[in-house]
Order: sequence, then structure tokens, then C-alpha cells
Amino acid sequence: MKAQNPTKLIDRFGRKVDYLRISITDRCDFRCVYCMAEEMTFLPRQQILSLEEIFLLAKTFVELGVKKIRITGGEPLIRKGALELLQQIGALEGLRELVLTTNGSQLVTAAPILKTANLKRLNISLDTLDAAKFKAITRTGDLQTVLNGIDAAKKVGFERIKLNAVILKNRNHDEVGDLVQFAIDKEIDISFIEEMPLGIVEKHNRAEAYYSSDEIRADLESRFTLQKSADNTGGPSDYYVVPNTQTRVGFISPHSHNFCSTCNRVRLTVEGRLLLCLGNEHSIDLKAILRAPDFNADNLKQAIIDSMEIKPEKHEFNVKEQPIILRYMNMTGG
Ligand code: SAM
Ligand code: SF4
Repeated sequence: MKAQNPTKLIDRFGRKVDYLRISITDRCDFRCVYCMAEEMTFLPRQQILSLEEIFLLAKTFVELGVKKIRITGGEPLIRKGALELLQQIGALEGLRELVLTTNGSQLVTAAPILKTANLKRLNISLDTLDAAKFKAITRTGDLQTVLNGIDAAKKVGFERIKLNAVILKNRNHDEVGDLVQFAIDKEIDISFIEEMPLGIVEKHNRAEAYYSSDEIRADLESRFTLQKSADNTGGPSDYYVVPNTQTRVGFISPHSHNFCSTCNRVRLTVEGRLLLCLGNEHSIDLKAILRAPDFNADNLKQAIIDSMEIKPEKHEFNVKEQPIILRYMNMTGG
């Protein structure tokens, strides 16, 4: 059992922050319509954190009491050296859970190495089981490659794999039942996510595409029994179990159910900005501290502790108006 120290990261509202999400790249092999514009300009190398800098920050957060780290992106598994970084972070003394969110495109080759990285859980994004729709939503992705990736992850023994599906009206809202059946057949979990207004995406109207968790749940209840689960993975998901199956169904509802009062997380972008809230711009520049000529580990720790003072009380998303958040989800890390 690894040693565990209480978190030193407590904000003005008494919320304890013990969960860090790290985006290790802004790049991706997909261009999902809700996440990115078709033509994206990615950050030049000197502007992004090196793998060594990311590891140092992860280690510092764990020393400050962070218990859970999620690696995300962009697509984290396309960054060179990602697997080694995961192995290093997974070995950090005091870290209880290392988890990864991926689009699944690299899993056929990456799954066996990931299994050696002390990864507790794998979230794989899958919005549709229809190859043509998959291509339309991801613009560049191939459904079969991702399905093979899911099987590869199961084969190497990952337990409690979870699918993440962003549901958009008139794109894939009619597939929620089939996605749950797929999860049941594979003995894995699934969460449905309401789309968040991050970044402006041309030819994609978020207000028209909005499909609420309540609508999804009502659709599912015509086909499955959903029993409220007492389980809470420490995230904003509301969980249900499907009786007589291994599958839990989660709903992440940033619009319809505000989960800010129990928020325990902060996000590190690949540029080294520490975002205190997904739905606000409040952040501090940790890269500047890391790269300062007089860098000192204590100053870094103090800056992170002090940042808790600017963690906002809550987010306000409004799909009907232009987003107040101009960064795309690939920058934020989902
Ligand atoms: N590329 C990886 C993937 O797709 O799983 C990891 C990064 S992606 C930004 C993380 C999660 O954010 C994915 O499940 C994706 O579907 C979700 N996501 C992206 N843009 C979103 C948006 N505007 N609203 C809600 N979820 C979004
Ligand atoms: Fe890439 Fe994930 Fe964004 Fe899709 S949601 S474009 S897979 S980062």
C-alpha cells in the first residue's frame, strides 16, 4: 500500500482538490466535430511542456496530496514517449489512481504496454457503432480500428473499461440503446456526456445538437431497467446499473445537473496552464515558473497552493450563446 498524505490543495469554498487531469498533447489523429475545427493549428514544440516537465509537475501535485491523475489530450497515445511517461507517473509514491482517456485508435499496439503502467482504468471514446456516422463525427477516424482497440484492451486484462459517448441530437441520439447493449455485451461501462460549448466550431450548431441526459435516460428506460447506483468514482457522473449485467451507465451533465459543489479537480494544459475550472478561464502559468532562471521547487509548490484562491465557485455553460470559453476541448483535455 502506497503512503497517502492529505491534500494541501483546498479552495476558498472548502473543496479539497485531489484529482489532476493532464493534457499531454493538443494534437489528435481525429477531428471530432464537437471538439475541434476541421483545420486546426497546433502548438509549436517550444510552447508545450516537455515530458520531463510534465512528470515533474505530476510528481509535485502528488507531493501536494493529489491522489488521482488522468492523462488525456488531444489524443495522448500519439505523443512520442507517452507510454514511458505513463509508466513513470504510474510508479509515483502516493498516487492512488492513474487513468487514461483515449480515442482508442492506438490501442491495438499500445494496450499491452499500457497494462504494465499501473493504469487503474481506461476510458475509450465511442459515439456510434455505425462506420459512416463514425467517420462523419470524427472526420478522420475508422470505427473498426477503435473496436479492435477495445478488444485489445480487454484481452490484456483491463477491468472496468468505460466508454464515453458524446450524444448529439440528430447525429447519434438514436443509438444510445445500441451503445448500452454493446457495453453489456463487452461487459464494460458507458457514460453519456452532454456536449460542452468549448471553442467555436464552424458548421456545428451546439444549441441544435443539444440532447440532455434526462432525454437519454428516458430513451434508455424504454429498453433497459436502470437502477440508481450508490457508486461514485469521484467524478461528476451519475451512475446506474443495468440489473443482471456487469455494466454501469453514467451520465455527465454539465448543463442539466450542476456538479460544481463537489468539484475536486484541476486541469493542466499541455502549454503548462493550470486551469482551475473547465468552464472558466481562471488559470496560472506553471510553465513560466518551471522555466524561470531562478526556478525553485518550493516556489512551484507555493504557486500551486496559492492558485486555489482563484478556483471559481461554478461554471455557467449556455449553448444558445457564443461560448465564453474560446479554447477547444483538445487544449483543455476533456
Ligand atoms: N482524444 C481522447 C478522446 O477522445 O477520448 C482524449 C481527449 S478528448 C478531449 C476527452 C473527452 O472529451 C472525449 O470523451 C470527448 O468525447 C470529450 N469531448 C470533446 N469535446 C467535447 C465537448 N465539446 N463537449 C463534451 N465532451 C467533449
Ligand atoms: Fe481528438 Fe478526442 Fe478531440 Fe476527438 S474528442 S478530436 S479524439 S481529442
